[in-house]
Amino acid sequence: MRTLVTGGAGFLGSHLCDRLLSDGHDVICLDNFFTGRKDNIRHLLGNPDFELMRHDVIDPFKVEVDWIFNLACPASPIHYQYNPIKTVKTSVMGAINCLGLAKRVNARIFQASTSEVYGDPTEHPQTETYRGNVNPIGPRACYDEGKRCAETLFFDYHRENKVDIRVGRIFNTYGPRMLEDDGRVVSNFIVQALRGEDITMYGKGDQTRSFCYVDDLIEAFMRLMTQEETVGPVNLGNPNEFTILELAEKVIAMTGSSAKIVYHPLPSDDPVRRQPDLALARKHLDWEPEVRLEAGLERTIEYFMEKRQAE
Ligand code: NAD
Ligand code: UDP
Repeated sequence: MRTLVTGGAGFLGSHLCDRLLSDGHDVICLDNFFTGRKDNIRHLLGNPDFELMRHDVIDPFKVEVDWIFNLACPASPIHYQYNPIKTVKTSVMGAINCLGLAKRVNARIFQASTSEVYGDPTEHPQTETYRGNVNPIGPRACYDEGKRCAETLFFDYHRENKVDIRVGRIFNTYGPRMLEDDGRVVSNFIVQALRGEDITMYGKGDQTRSFCYVDDLIEAFMRLMTQEETVGPVNLGNPNEFTILELAEKVIAMTGSSAKIVYHPLPSDDPVRRQPDLALARKHLDWEPEVRLEAGLERTIEYFMEKRQAE
């Protein structure tokens, strides 16, 4: 099996490359290094089954592969809002280029979609049939609407051209190799706690998220790609919901930090609650996340501590 991973030098992409290589795939990692890092894949560079392509998904490309995982897209609000038009192009033109390739070479193709397609949800927990509550002109729209349009393209290529798609809607996932300055809550809080800096709480901290550890998510990717029952969309995440304040308290306790929580205004369109309904994932993938938040945080804290020591 030869497999292309776009965004393969990023947080999730690099873990996916590791998993594919250990399962015996030949892996081509395509990345423009906007938020990806060579450090995430440095350990793979000498592997004869691993190839790195510096390329932007908005420009067409051609490779002979059996599977494609399309992960290329900045995922944190700071990065996807840095150049919102580029974010839309990455999602939409990236999807078109990957789907065109899948069509030409007859590859199965996975789209890394997101819980953001549900926007600030009015249904809780979110099932795949819920159509969402996205503000199309707000600051998160470049990402949310880009990802929604990518899903549209996936299903149109599937209906029109019989492209063999799989669509996973990923909920907040964390773990080693998150960028420490990308503004996502788990990495922000851990890095702030380790440095003894103020913990930046947006709003009162009563908004909730459900956090999935990266290893659980990668297992779900593989199960979604290898089963034949559904093309998706399937929610992928951990259903254990925590308030952001609870997360901050856990991180402070686990790092033994003297950092104080400091309150800042809540960014606009910040979803109030988010929790995946996993019925479809359980049914079709026979999958359930296994890593509890404390265990995942422990491994992530360890990663950031080692990184600090190496610097
Ligand atoms: P990340 O920012 O670490 O990885 C994204 C990767 O894509 C990076 O390596 C980046 O350099 C690359 N990239 C960005 N634009 C590109 C372009 N135009 N051409 C080529 N490469 C490009 O983020 P991540 O958390 O690993 O997310 C991976 C995918 O999963 C994204 O599509 C994201 O939307 C999706 N997702 C992630 C989460 C999460 O919680 N981590 C949740 C929902 C969806
Ligand atoms: N958040 C926070 N402090 C931070 C970073 C994020 O309070 O330093 C909040 C943010 O407002 C949101 C939640 O944590 O309510 C999750 O944010 P993240 O950017 O990680 O993910 P998303 O909002 O995309 O789910």
